[in-house]
This record gives sequence, structure tokens and C-alpha cells, in this order.
Amino acid sequence: MKGKGVLTVVSGFSGTGKGTVTKALARDYSQYVLSVSATTRKPRNDEREGVEYYFMDNAAFEKMIAEDAFYEYAGYVDHYYGTPKAFVDEQLAAGKDVILEIELQGALKIKKQIPDCLMIFLIPPSAKELERRLSGRGTEEKEVIQARLRRAVEEADGAEAYDYIVVNDDLETCISCVHQLIQDAHCRAAGRLKLVQDIKNDLIEMVKGE
Ligand code: 5GP
Repeated sequence: MKGKGVLTVVSGFSGTGKGTVTKALARDYSQYVLSVSATTRKPRNDEREGVEYYFMDNAAFEKMIAEDAFYEYAGYVDHYYGTPKAFVDEQLAAGKDVILEIELQGALKIKKQIPDCLMIFLIPPSAKELERRLSGRGTEEKEVIQARLRRAVEEADGAEAYDYIVVNDDLETCISCVHQLIQDAHCRAAGRLKLVQDIKNDLIEMVKGE
């Protein structure tokens, strides 16, 4: 059956492993596509243009804002991040499940525009483990790590806006849990009523001549 794809928003504290989880889903299942955000932060060592992000300067980002090219955008620890509209719309219309990995403020803006999106918040098993993961990836300066931990304190209160909270303790378990939640979202009644209606109409035709 081909229908509109499910839009899933994945948020969580920096260092929780959102990127690892969402990349694994896109790698393992062809139905998932990851939205590529625009950002004004600098690429990390292994990040590629157009894969992890579209990297741009403030002027280019602000031009996209002026052109209304974003579903949402937000400031996060000194930089802009935003979700380009066109790609998300095309993929959903083609029946793909689109995953957005974005922070809380952006997630709330998406929920307003697309109320039937699926909102998932990933958390680490503990604060200590989060600090260990953030320091362990070795891509950020000490002050940036501190700023991200402070931001996590603020974001904790936003978790109640999400449909599900998934603990990323064992990676494989976390990936299969998120996959299952997206599959379940396909069966939500609201999204299936049109299908029921189509079958009903076919049945009416079928019993007409009896
Ligand atoms: P990072 O710099 O670690 O790649 O991302 C920092 C934060 O920005 C993460 O919480 C990430 O989910 C969020 N983020 C990435 N892209 C977007 C986006 O397009 N919009 C918003 N609002 N947040 C984003």
C-alpha cells in the first residue's frame, strides 16, 4: 500500500546518539529518509556537505529564512539550524518516512504545522553517561561541551511535549524500538480512515448488483 509517509521528529540531549540511531535506520530500511538540515556551524572532521548538513554562512541562512524555505529554524549554542521545506514535502508525498533530527524549539514548531507527526525524545541512561559520550567523541572544545550540557538542562523540561521517550542504553535495542514506533504510527486510525473509506466505496459498488 502506498500512502503518505510518516514524519518523525527525533530530539534528545546532545551526545545521546540521535545521529547514530537515525543513520542506522536509514541504512537498514529503505523506507526511511533523513532530512538534511542547514546550519551555520562549522563541519566536524568527518562531516560532508549535503550529507550531515548543508553548511552555510549567516547571510546564506538568512536568505533562506527570507525566502520562507524552512519548515522551522532555531538557534542552538551560537548557531542557526533549519529544516528545508521542499525535500520533506517531496519525500512524504512519495510515501517515504521522513526523519528529522532536531532540537526542542524546532520540534515544537513542526508539531504545530504537522500535528500528526510522531515525536520521539531519546535520552541517555544517566547524566554521567551523557557527559562521557560527549567528551568521548572528541569533536568539541570543553566550553562547547559545557554549553551543550547546560542546554540539556533546559531541554529536559521539554520532554513532556513528545509522544515517546526512548532510552538509548543498548544501541540495537534503541534502534529497533524507534523503528517499531514508526511502524505503529502507520496504523494510527486517523491516517487510515481514507483507506477505510476507499474500501467502503468499493464494497458499495460490489453489493449494488446483488
Ligand atoms: P549538532 O551541532 O550536534 O549537529 O546539532 C546540535 C543540535 O541541533 C542537535 O540537538 C540537533 O538535533 C539540532 N538540529 C540539527 N538540525 C536541526 C534543524 O534543522 N532544526 C533544529 N531546530 N535543530 C536542529
